[in-house]
Amino acid sequence: MWSSGDVVALRHLNAGRPSHIWPMLVVEDSAEVIALYIGTGTPTKRRATLDGIPLDRALSYEERYRVPWRLGDGAWFGSSCLQLHKPGEPRAWWRWLDGSGWYVNLQAPLRRTASGFETEDWVLDLVVAEDGTWAWKDEDEFAAAQRVGRFDADAAAAVRAAGEEAVVTIEKRSWPLDDSWDTWCPDPSWPVPDLPEGWDVV
Ligand code: MG
Repeated sequence: MWSSGDVVALRHLNAGRPSHIWPMLVVEDSAEVIALYIGTGTPTKRRATLDGIPLDRALSYEERYRVPWRLGDGAWFGSSCLQLHKPGEPRAWWRWLDGSGWYVNLQAPLRRTASGFETEDWVLDLVVAEDGTWAWKDEDEFAAAQRVGRFDADAAAAVRAAGEEAVVTIEKRSWPLDDSWDTWCPDPSWPVPDLPEGWDVV
């Protein structure tokens, strides 16, 4: 288990290859919760073309799926964010610290690695406003991911089920949408972290 203040690598795999790697500060690592923090502007590694240009949403999902890629430099452009995981559960609850609600990232349950954690993004997500209203996000990309064969029918059903389970939580406003994490803020002494050694070792 990691300790509060440790810097770990959170690695997202795409078809078995690390495609997004973020340095995260550990807030809590226990049997109940794995809580990780990333601040706006934190340098990351991310999927890029062979020329080093970030592979972003200017390309369709199908194009991004086929194009050769390598890792390039990136940064966390979103608002500073607390990412909460129940060990073994297929989602991350991202709490935007600018008060703009939550993002529910559907993903493989976190696995432990020598340098931190690893998961695989499942494309489909949910967004939750402060008032608890919610919506699916990236349905179109999820449909495209099924067309290109990234998810077969069973895998796609499991992703949808992981989302439906999150909807139950959202509608009941149970953990973590109760007030458990409402007053949390990052330790002001924490530096902007670099990726820890071994972040690239699969
Ligand atoms: Mg996602």
